[in-house]
Amino acid sequence: MTNIFDARLDRARDAATAAGLDALLITPGSDLRYLTGYAALPLERLTCLVLPVHGPASLVVPELEKPAAQASPAGDLAVDIRPWPESADPIALVADLLPGVQRVGLDDHMWAEKVLRFRSAMPAAEQHAAGAVLSELRMRKDAAEIDALREAGAAIDRVHAQVPQWLRPGRTEAEVGRDIADAIIAEGHVTVDFVIVASGPNGASPHHETADRVVEVGDVVVVDIGGTTEAGYCSDSTRTYAVGHVPDGFAADYDVLLKAQIAAVDRVRPGVTAGSVDAAARDLLDEAGLGEYFIHRTGHGIGMDSHEEPYIIGGDTRLIEAGMAFSIEPGFYKAGQYGARIEDIVVATADGVERLNLRPRELVIVEA
Ligand code: ZN
Ligand code: ZN
Ligand code: ZN
Repeated sequence: MTNIFDARLDRARDAATAAGLDALLITPGSDLRYLTGYAALPLERLTCLVLPVHGPASLVVPELEKPAAQASPAGDLAVDIRPWPESADPIALVADLLPGVQRVGLDDHMWAEKVLRFRSAMPAAEQHAAGAVLSELRMRKDAAEIDALREAGAAIDRVHAQVPQWLRPGRTEAEVGRDIADAIIAEGHVTVDFVIVASGPNGASPHHETADRVVEVGDVVVVDIGGTTEAGYCSDSTRTYAVGHVPDGFAADYDVLLKAQIAAVDRVRPGVTAGSVDAAARDLLDEAGLGEYFIHRTGHGIGMDSHEEPYIIGGDTRLIEAGMAFSIEPGFYKAGQYGARIEDIVVATADGVERLNLRPRELVIVEA
């Protein structure tokens, strides 16, 4: 019986072969979890999936991690779990598993120290980044993965629904952020990945997290939050709030932003380019004179990582396919004044698009 991970290992072998690689070396992180179901921690001790394109796969693990590896889905796969004792050299063990290898693909997130030790242990093997090979698989999500992303989206929507009760004038961004972080866990995530509560002028920095700034009446507040669920899939959604009332001129700009976000989502369907999705949002902001304040790409893929392929960037000719999941998050950022962003995760379907975040997108005016 082939389970989902054995199938992924086979597809990874095919993709590696197509890329001219003889083997992949995958260390702890989302690629390892995607391929084997093993959510190993990245440690100084080597854990490494050794996947030759021909021949059996091995999971080299420190002896003390063997029970955890065997208890994970990796324990049920056609993967030989090979524990190494504390005094052994696991790098040499991996090299012995790959005799004569010429071109090896290394996990994009492998620690440099391990990359260099593999280079010394296998001097004849050209090293390449495996990320491009694996992202081709990971960006095309199956139905179970889309379900997992839908669940993550619903969980973060439940958090946004509660934000108005915490976002009160007189509280600091950090205080509001702590309430949000607690709710991210309470509503169905196992980790809090980021909490951005960017009030007033802090909103002009797209990745401002939280600070001691006190939220004031008349502030615009960008709230961008996400976590990872038990299943290993990420959420990421932004809503923009205003406390009491909005600054002069803001409402008209926000209205353009809302139209731009909707236009980009409406553009999504199989066969369109990622660049054209970006343009659908950017053109409307440009026409309204807001283009110079929209200083980032329109979106990023999401799955087991909160930022992964495909990226929704101007000029990108990648064609959108059914099963690709990514954010649509145009914004504008006016230094010294405020910022605004609207972000939903969407997934391309056979003939269109499904939004995975369903909270209202209009500006939320919190009573002061
Ligand atoms: Zn971002
Ligand atoms: Zn976000
Ligand atoms: Zn995002």
